[in-house]
Amino acid sequence: MFNEERRFEQPIRWAMVGGGRGSQIGYAHRSAAQRDGLFRLVAGAFDLDPQRCRDFGTNLGVDADRCYAGYKEMFEAEAGRADGIQAVSIATPNSTHYEICKAALTAGLHVVCEKPITFTTEEAEELKTLAAEKGRVIGVMYGYSGFPMVQQAREMVQRGDLGEIRVINMQFAHGFHNEEYEKNDPGLKWRVSPQASGPTYVLGDIGTHVFFLGEMITGLEVERLSCMRQSFIPSRAPLEDNAHVMMQFKGGAVGTLWASAVNAGSMHQQKIRIVGSKASIEWWDEYPNQLRYEIQGEPARVLERGMNYLYQDAAGVSANRIGGGHAEGFFESWANLYHRFALAFDAANRDDQATLGELWFPGIDAGIEGVRLCEKCVESADQNAAWVEYK
Ligand code: NAD
Repeated sequence: MFNEERRFEQPIRWAMVGGGRGSQIGYAHRSAAQRDGLFRLVAGAFDLDPQRCRDFGTNLGVDADRCYAGYKEMFEAEAGRADGIQAVSIATPNSTHYEICKAALTAGLHVVCEKPITFTTEEAEELKTLAAEKGRVIGVMYGYSGFPMVQQAREMVQRGDLGEIRVINMQFAHGFHNEEYEKNDPGLKWRVSPQASGPTYVLGDIGTHVFFLGEMITGLEVERLSCMRQSFIPSRAPLEDNAHVMMQFKGGAVGTLWASAVNAGSMHQQKIRIVGSKASIEWWDEYPNQLRYEIQGEPARVLERGMNYLYQDAAGVSANRIGGGHAEGFFESWANLYHRFALAFDAANRDDQATLGELWFPGIDAGIEGVRLCEKCVESADQNAAWVEYK
């Protein structure tokens, strides 16, 4: 059973940019990062509004003089302190990720960045180069990839339990934005504006999540894709609130991805089905403790988290925190990822390349591929869903 016993001496001194009061995802970062005592929140530029930042930060227990009006000011001031920050998480709207991430790496910090990490693959590649030069690590918050049953799915595919992979069916299609709610919702308003959101809405916002699950579970690379996208709420154009993508993978597998915010009545419907020559598996984020396993010619099985028949991942980080039968969820998945980020940051600090090489976590390459997905989908959709080469 996995627990919070200390993995290294002192918690990583950690800050956030964004994630302020009222933000959608700030609490998830703080709760996950601090869950196992591996990070301690000591500073932040949490909000665009400096007064609200200070008020919020001090309520979280951060010293008032370490609640900053902006990220530049924070990186500069913290660099001058003996107890300055060592890592930062970036949970701001998409348009700001590149600049903030670049500034953080330049300041010598490890980074956890929200997705999509940049607007273009060139920018993302630049961040990768900068991180390598600085010996720093970038983690990307593909938060669903920390679920134990997703790790189990990955292990099953890698061990050949499904046979040869033939079909990957991916969808993340919720119904929360089936009407023009952005009129009264600032968090949605920026998502449907190209200046803040980037070249896509649902493809980047949610499509990248399930796409990453497909990539990490199967290890397959896209060869070509064709994308059709549209906005059923006309004011969202040119950004899409619905998209369908067809994919061909290197080696012969094929797949589809449906990303939507107008799937009326749906909560999340983030599902992935992987079909092999012998068997198929299926995982749904609304029932994350279960993984369907269907062997051709046999009754379907439901594998349950926390059982001895599951594979244990090498680092033991995605093992169960509580026995089977109790429900683990979203926060545990995120905490599993932050735990991995902490181990990676610590290994980088010690220049422990062996640990860094063995440890699985969604890093900069995962971030780059998410951005590439968005770019290539736009390229295809702009040519009437023409097939485009992926790389
Ligand atoms: P939001 O609009 O709800 O909150 C953004 C926060 O950032 C606010 O507190 C705002 O004041 C602050 N902010 C904005 N610009 C800033 C700046 N320059 N400096 C400091 N603070 C700034 O947005 P959100 O829904 O929380 O999304 C933030 C990011 O997280 C987006 O990139 C989004 O795609 C991503 N996200 C990821 C997941 C996930 O599952 N990984 C889920 C939701 C959102």
